[in-house]
Amino acid sequence: MSTCTRCVLSETFPGISFDESGVCNYCRNTPVPDAQEKQAYIEKFEDLLQSKRSKHSFDVLLAYSGGKDSTYTLYTLRKHYDMKVLAFVFDNGFISDQALKNIRHMADSLGAACTIFKPPFDVMKKAFGLAAGTDIYSPKTLDRASSICTTCIGMVKAMILKTAISYDIPLVAFGWSPGQAPISSAIMQTNPRLQRFSHRTIRDPLVERIGDELKPYFLSDDDLTTDPSRWPVNIHPLAFMDYDEEAIMEKIASLGWVKPLDTDPNSTNCLLNALANYLHRERFKFHPYAWEIAGIVRSGCMDRSSGVSKVTEPEDMNMVSYAAKLLGIDLGL
Ligand SMILES: [Zn+2]
Repeated sequence: MSTCTRCVLSETFPGISFDESGVCNYCRNTPVPDAQEKQAYIEKFEDLLQSKRSKHSFDVLLAYSGGKDSTYTLYTLRKHYDMKVLAFVFDNGFISDQALKNIRHMADSLGAACTIFKPPFDVMKKAFGLAAGTDIYSPKTLDRASSICTTCIGMVKAMILKTAISYDIPLVAFGWSPGQAPISSAIMQTNPRLQRFSHRTIRDPLVERIGDELKPYFLSDDDLTTDPSRWPVNIHPLAFMDYDEEAIMEKIASLGWVKPLDTDPNSTNCLLNALANYLHRERFKFHPYAWEIAGIVRSGCMDRSSGVSKVTEPEDMNMVSYAAKLLGIDLGL
């Protein structure tokens, strides 16, 4: 199988083509931010923090999974910028025990308040089961994440926004790596128009099939009429900071974060990820993390061979079966 000679995308990735030197069209057309652009974002970010600081009960609501990237983001917001942080944990029923220990330890030791929000497992089971077995999202949505991850992240983003609006928290932070989200979206005012778009792509297909019991986990049409001044600004600082996976792991380990041993290589918190990856790879013949890893490799924050092994290693079938069993999915293996 041909794979881009610069990133990790292979010939099975949607819309891909290669030039005579084997470099893919995404490498040719995706700008990589230089030091000057990153610096401009850092300044914009610092101005924003300054203008929002200390006017609300919390300065920032962080989407916190206990994984390495959001833990490092928590550390940065608390220790570099001295922000008052409320960490919001969405428990999808598959957080590893070690990740939960990390969440409690890191929030305490970094001085952040923490709230854990857990829908009944039965609700998550229905949502994940539907996403695993039915084509409910557009194929374009699934170029960058599995259908199961898209479901979970859609609910997380909605609950985060709902919480920020109701607690009147002016900033919402995510720990997206530089491959997950471009620098151009690193500082972005939320608004009802963007939210309506997300309703059409994620909320509506789920609610249509599962019913009203899923509605509390998304914004309602009434929520969309909330005074625009209460809508937060989304930030994802890792897009413009130096991102080096090893250095991040080292830093947070020095603060007492422990790498879970029961998750797959692409996650440091979720026990559902292996199944989500497996189903996506079976169906689309490319790894759902390929786009993200390609972006990290392109930005120079990971060497290409480590990236290629991350997206070509087979899933751990014990983990795949574990999650399938909990969700009542028969893989026919
Ligand atoms: Zn490429």
